[in-house]
Amino acid sequence: MSINASGWKPTSPVAGGNAAPTFTGNKALMLEEPLIFEIGSTETTGVDFAGGDVAGSRLGDLTRTAPIGLPGLSEQETVRHYTRLSRQNYAIDLGLFPLGSCTMKHNPRLNEKVARMPGFADVHPLQPVDTVQGALGVINELAVWLIKLTGMHGVAMSPKAGAHGELCGILAIKAALEKRGEGHRKVVLVPESAHGTNPATAAFAGFTVEDIPANADGRVDTAALEARLGPDVAAVMITNPNTCGLFERDLKRISDAVHAAGGYVYCDGANFNAIVGRVRPGDLGVDAMHINLHKTFSTPHGGGGPGSGPVVLSEALAPFGPLPFTARMADGHIQLIEEETAGDDHPDTFGRMVAFHGQMGMFTRALAYILSHGADGLKQVAEDAVLNANYVLRSLEDVLDAPFAGAGPCMHEAIFSDKGFAAGFSTIDAAKGLIDEGFHPMTMYFPLVVHGAMLVEPTETESRAALDQFIGALRSVAERAKAGDPSLKTAPHFAPRARLDETLAARKPILTWKPPVQQAEAAE
Ligand SMILES: *Cc1c(COP(=O)(O)O)cnc(C)c1O
Repeated sequence: MSINASGWKPTSPVAGGNAAPTFTGNKALMLEEPLIFEIGSTETTGVDFAGGDVAGSRLGDLTRTAPIGLPGLSEQETVRHYTRLSRQNYAIDLGLFPLGSCTMKHNPRLNEKVARMPGFADVHPLQPVDTVQGALGVINELAVWLIKLTGMHGVAMSPKAGAHGELCGILAIKAALEKRGEGHRKVVLVPESAHGTNPATAAFAGFTVEDIPANADGRVDTAALEARLGPDVAAVMITNPNTCGLFERDLKRISDAVHAAGGYVYCDGANFNAIVGRVRPGDLGVDAMHINLHKTFSTPHGGGGPGSGPVVLSEALAPFGPLPFTARMADGHIQLIEEETAGDDHPDTFGRMVAFHGQMGMFTRALAYILSHGADGLKQVAEDAVLNANYVLRSLEDVLDAPFAGAGPCMHEAIFSDKGFAAGFSTIDAAKGLIDEGFHPMTMYFPLVVHGAMLVEPTETESRAALDQFIGALRSVAERAKAGDPSLKTAPHFAPRARLDETLAARKPILTWKPPVQQAEAAE
């Protein structure tokens, strides 16, 4: 059986797989729930006011002529509908979320408490600067921490996510090249192991993207990269630690070569939690790097945000960063450097990325997280994230193919593949089996450099007991996949929905509900 040092023991499998279906479709306290349109009716309403006098409409010919078509439900029906749906969500507050490259980790409630203090939560971005000195102080203090932790020169706080930060960094690089009269540098080199947002960002900013291959141990092929450098190369974008969960040991050498060839180095720092307090990207020659506050510095994420992706900048790039930014004056007062003053202070800025100053709630959470950990605590974050990932890697390498395990320890995430599974079994089957075991699946089929990849990022916040339970579950599923257990092919058996046609859903998404009559007509 699995490594079980913490004393956690698997219980007997849940009964119910062969039970007769229930009258309601519910499975014990796991309740089925139809769409709200299927339970409510446009004929009923949750309120019983008598119709009042209808005031004259001022909408002119914009007045709605057909009924709005919203289902009417009582308050209790509405509350139950959404509560039932909420119980079908998997969440970091329910269990381990091993998604690689996502850093789904516990968000200490202290950060929430601080972010919700009225003095922070209720400020308005258009308030006069003198009335929000505390909020600006938080932004400024966080900026100072980010600069210090990364060994960089400046930071743009306003980007609202990792990918948005990448765009910010690439636009700063573009502005710097144009200022030098080298706008003809149009190529951005992106290693195969990069996160998908990197090539997308470079293409979006008008650059041509060229792939750089990975070598056999999952890192950038440095020789191939050096060979490609030249007068048409604007920048390289390197994820470090990369999406194989490995540290790019040659980064300093790569930076020196890129600089010598007249280009800039963009580092994707979304995985900063693996190195925070241990490595300063500025020392590795990085010119621009985004930090995902919603990953490294906690904060809930997933489900569309909110995120925050500040970008630290080297001395060479800082003058080209976006507005606005904060600056602490000699008298302690914090000034917001906006367009109006930029003529003198920041003439080379590429412009503005967002309407206001960024995600205030994220800034407060991140600063609360940083201050509650302290410098030594942050270092421990990186050490624990790496320790946990290596614990997962070494506990499973005997049962799962681990393509880079021979290359030494991993960083914050462990990578496995489906090599060795019985014919017809793949990563998706292991993922579906994990759902039956009560876990959100790991990242699947990414990064592309590993066939049938399974990328597991346990993060530093999981206990050894939680890791042991997860390892036991993945071990059991892997053993079933290797043995060709047919019931794994139809997993999950205990979830409200089993295998969906994901290709059909992606190719022909049905985004609006239509009454069954109309659906039947459409099918004819
Ligand atoms: C998460 C992530 C991103 C993108 O960040 P978003 O906030 O989702 O835009 C980019 N690169 C890496 C390596 C990541 O892990």
